[in-house]
Amino acid sequence: MDQILDGLNSAQRAAVTSPAAVVQVLAPPGSGKTKTLTSRVAYLITQNGLEPRNIVVCTFTIKAAREMQERIRGLLGSDTANRLVLGTFHSIARRFLVRYGSRIGIKSNFGIADTSDSTAIVNRIVKRLHLTIEPKQARARISKAKAQCVSCAEFAVKHQGANMQEFSAVYAEYEDHLRVSNLLDYDDLLLRCADLLRRFPECVARIEAVLIDEFQDTNTVQYDLMVLLAQQRNVVTSVGDPDQSIYGWRSAEVKNLQRMVDLWPETHVAKLEENYRSSALILNLASELIQQDTSRPAKALEATLPMGPQPVLRQIPSAKIEALWIVGEVQRVIRRTCGMIGLGDVAILLRSASLSRLVESALGRAGVPYRMVGGNKFFDRIEIKLVLDYLRAIENSNHNEAVARIINVPSRKIGDATVARLLEDADARRLPLWKIILEIVRGETKVTDKVSPQAQRGLEAFVNVILSARKRLTTMSSEKKSLADFITFVVQKAGIQDHLKRTKAEDFDNRWANVQELVAQATDIVETAPGESLETSTEVIDHESPSPFQDETVLETALTTLLANVALSAESSAQASDQKGLVTLSTIHAAKGLEWPIVFIPAVVEGIIPHSRAEDTDEERRLLYVAMTRAKAFLYLSIPSRGSTGDATSMSTFLSSKALKPLLANAGSQLGSREIKEIALILRRECPTERALSVAAAAEDAQDNRWLSHEDESESWNDDEDHAYAVGHRQSTSNGRSCMIYQS
Ligand code: ATP
Ligand code: MG
Repeated sequence: MDQILDGLNSAQRAAVTSPAAVVQVLAPPGSGKTKTLTSRVAYLITQNGLEPRNIVVCTFTIKAAREMQERIRGLLGSDTANRLVLGTFHSIARRFLVRYGSRIGIKSNFGIADTSDSTAIVNRIVKRLHLTIEPKQARARISKAKAQCVSCAEFAVKHQGANMQEFSAVYAEYEDHLRVSNLLDYDDLLLRCADLLRRFPECVARIEAVLIDEFQDTNTVQYDLMVLLAQQRNVVTSVGDPDQSIYGWRSAEVKNLQRMVDLWPETHVAKLEENYRSSALILNLASELIQQDTSRPAKALEATLPMGPQPVLRQIPSAKIEALWIVGEVQRVIRRTCGMIGLGDVAILLRSASLSRLVESALGRAGVPYRMVGGNKFFDRIEIKLVLDYLRAIENSNHNEAVARIINVPSRKIGDATVARLLEDADARRLPLWKIILEIVRGETKVTDKVSPQAQRGLEAFVNVILSARKRLTTMSSEKKSLADFITFVVQKAGIQDHLKRTKAEDFDNRWANVQELVAQATDIVETAPGESLETSTEVIDHESPSPFQDETVLETALTTLLANVALSAESSAQASDQKGLVTLSTIHAAKGLEWPIVFIPAVVEGIIPHSRAEDTDEERRLLYVAMTRAKAFLYLSIPSRGSTGDATSMSTFLSSKALKPLLANAGSQLGSREIKEIALILRRECPTERALSVAAAAEDAQDNRWLSHEDESESWNDDEDHAYAVGHRQSTSNGRSCMIYQS
């Protein structure tokens, strides 16, 4: 008990130990909301005697889920932490649907349509119906409707007008298509789960408490899910911060905070005011920024940490040089701090994933290891997608998108036109593509006339791969073979190695290594992706009810979980593996709730943040606020005068206000021994000794000299900007290295 309450301030303690059934914590970043939430989980278990497997803990990203599980593990040990029903909304919803979905007509082996599947489906529908609407827009519209719990029929009634009728038509067809393919998209996971819990409350009969982090970002269906999950006992804790609501564009409703209090008027609303994360100077800056929004109520926010070094605001000639500068600074900070700061302490936070290209290439060139969060790099690679599509088609042959993508990869001499025709036939007859193919192979259909003998043989070969793999899945399972063995079999049976050799010869080694990496990581992806790892260890169910997998083999279950985890990790913007010691490159959205000692925010310019396409400027400001408040000790903002396409840019209006000026007076990193000591104080780490610091400074100078002597290295940067960078660098070194100067 003491262990749980120790290290909490009195306001946090009051929230953790509140006797109220419903608690809502409203507090600014870094005030310990997540800490309070995890402590309350521990409190409910140890003091109120709740059973861990009857507690639902919900977060927004897999990384946040993992961190939360770590914290609870620290308080109560692994056994208890592993029993919690903990994960993202999507992963929790998925688990209920796998377990109980049959009650509402969902087969337990449903697949998840990821963004590329959904887009492909909508594209095809728009084309087939000869509509004029933009497919991307149609997809976004459908997703929005679903997030607001507006069904296809309701949408048609609500929205008249020609354009809207087109949307309704696509929406209806899209839903039909998912049903035929036995697929649920991300929105469906939540919607259908809400539907299930509404109609069959017994599915949540044993849920004793529901706890939700980042509540300000819930949308209507997530709010409904919370209420439904908690319907038995109405024991709920939610924590959130309206100033950090950044998902309005995805239909998040910050008013859900008030809705919750209206629903449960006895709610104990707690406020926390002390910040334990960021240096006082970072906090000052962030507070000034958020106060530009005059519509929000004033709030107290007290720093508990020392001032720290001044945040840096850097003007840089171009986006390309900005990327080089960031990487140079990362290396410099690490060298200068003599091991006190490591690569894992650094995050580069981007307004959108598309900004990552230049930074990634600069990191790669400098040999700085990093991982990208908020993009799903590994699973997005062509060769990995190919293997995953085979696995999808084996697991669920009705997955039209997967089947269509692999039917002729490796080439089986089935032309694109043939594939398109078969798909058309499938769509028209509301049958899965796989059934159409089987009909042809078995000579049961007239479509055969339309398929050349060559293509017919190709289709036979494809069917053979899928059917023999499926058979092998069963036998390998009874032989207790691993998922890795099975994937190896599939890769070999499908001829993927030869295919890569033939078509991607120049990059074969790399691609083949990736395929092997997937094989090597398979078990890991099944077992360690948080939220889903709980599949086997966490029970949502009453023990009396039969396992949904009782007819299935262990390997089939593992395969299903692998594919779900891949899909869910894409949705929640985090990769499956979480390696330490790497620089984090992340979108700001995916970074919420997290913290790093050193944070870079590049491209703080008009058009990027606020984004030119953003409808809500206040939400853009909150996004910058979220980004700044991730930093503990040292914050870098940079402003390239030209974007990646060479167009002129100007500093974000958010930074140009008068009030911010004095807080952003540091134009270069003055990382002297004083600043390093300040950082050490904030991070409560041991500061390198004076001697070590001076040795590091000397080493750094030597490094710069070496850099200067490498003419050919700077030669390779041959446009004007790069030249300016080189000149700037040279000047600064001759200036005694107190700061770097760039000339455009
Ligand atoms: P965000 O809004 O960004 O999600 P938060 O309110 O959830 O932030 P936490 O992540 O829980 O904040 O806490 C921020 C940091 O402050 C963490 O490193 C946490 O361990 C630390 N912290 C929280 N409360 C205390 C406390 N009472 N004493 C010392 N450190 C604390
Ligand atoms: Mg938090």
